[in-house]
Amino acid sequence: MGSPAVVHGEHILLSTLIYRSRIREEFSSEMLQQLAAAGRRRNAAMGITGILLFDGVHFVQLLEGDKARLDELFESIKHDPRHRNIVVLLRDQGPFRRFEGDQLAMLDLRVLSSAKVSSLIHDKLEERTSQACSDDRVYKILMWYALARGTDHIVEGEDAQCWRWVAAPPRDAPPESGDRGLAYRFALQPIVDPLRREVTSYEFLIRGAEGGSPEQLFASIQPEQRYRLDLESKAEAFRLARRLGLKDVKLSVNLLPMSLTGIPGAVERLVEQIVECGLSPSQVVVEVTEQEAISCLEVFSGAIEQLRRAGVGIAVDDFGAGFAGLSLLAEFQPDKLKIDRSLIQNIHRSGPRQAIVRAIVQASISMGITPVAEGVELVEEWSWLQAVGVERFQGYLFARPATAGIPAMNWPERVVPLLLPTQP
Ligand code: C2E
Ligand code: MN
Ligand code: MN
Repeated sequence: MGSPAVVHGEHILLSTLIYRSRIREEFSSEMLQQLAAAGRRRNAAMGITGILLFDGVHFVQLLEGDKARLDELFESIKHDPRHRNIVVLLRDQGPFRRFEGDQLAMLDLRVLSSAKVSSLIHDKLEERTSQACSDDRVYKILMWYALARGTDHIVEGEDAQCWRWVAAPPRDAPPESGDRGLAYRFALQPIVDPLRREVTSYEFLIRGAEGGSPEQLFASIQPEQRYRLDLESKAEAFRLARRLGLKDVKLSVNLLPMSLTGIPGAVERLVEQIVECGLSPSQVVVEVTEQEAISCLEVFSGAIEQLRRAGVGIAVDDFGAGFAGLSLLAEFQPDKLKIDRSLIQNIHRSGPRQAIVRAIVQASISMGITPVAEGVELVEEWSWLQAVGVERFQGYLFARPATAGIPAMNWPERVVPLLLPTQP
């Protein structure tokens, strides 16, 4: 075991951080030497040790030291104009330093052989760990980046500056004849293919009569009436679709599985509502959350079969937020898989999220399931997801839900980055 986490006789909360970044512009060998030298001075002053890998385009840096110091340092790295696309690969607590005595070891992968790089990392870590280091996550991550040839394993999106936004105005629904005195109404939010500037689907999100959230609305209703209201409310969603003339676009509605399984003839009723509004069942997608789907898959599978026979599509909502995960997909393959916002948020900054979402997207695509990213708010999130093959997006970046009709849209337009004038 290496030395305990003590600096100047004081106990510290020893943390380890590994991040990856990309150089902004050209980066000469002198600049690399300067960067490493400055890094060593700064680390010495802050009680931080670590290692820096550079492949000519990407940095992978491990830093270890007191948690607060490390956070402080990482904040300044995030604002350092020499780095872009900073992605956290690992953040962990540990009982000892792996690079004790190295203010900043530097491995220039362009000049060292693979065998040399691998023995350097291996030897450093074996010194510190009492067991073989091959089980160590830090070792495995460093080796993965140190030995990977080419950069196919790295997916990077683009900066926000690469795109500008073109607004499309909202379109209000024509007024209704008479007030039906309903306790609810619907907000619409598009699901889009941004590069084709196409709305592929509208999701109908229930609201209270005064615009309250779905949770508030369902909480205000007697439990035994909830499923009935959930099912019957869809008639209003389809009427809104008719008023807006939504013909060549999918219509997504949310339903609790119990709203289909707990009410006799529920699927027939849903189909009747669709047809009454002059819509086609194959235009409609029923969204159920992952959690609900798995908790009653036995009962729900009957309803799924009925929906399928009627031609209604099925989406698994909030995928990744529940507990079923990929095992749900082994049992049942929907038409669409909506990846939960908890996995999408800041994906451009998180190595673990990137690994998980890439696996979900690859699994979906190979099963013929369309992955949809939910809750996309940032250009960087969208751009990263687009780079791994996601083509359908829902989120405030493109449109917020609107109750009056079709919401205002934002479409991305590529700005070809101009070469920056050289500094005088
Ligand atoms: P959901 O089906 O996952 O719908 C997406 C939710 O995320 C919506 O919240 C939407 O407003 C919100 N959202 C969309 N884009 C963004 C974004 O970029 N950032 C963030 N932070 N949020 C975004 P909403 O409308 O409050 O709906 C919440 C949940 O209520 C829905 O989640 C759905 O599970 C449920 N729900 C909505 N309508 C119905 C319904 O008719 N029946 C049933 N049973 N449940 C419904
Ligand atoms: Mn939904
Ligand atoms: Mn969702």
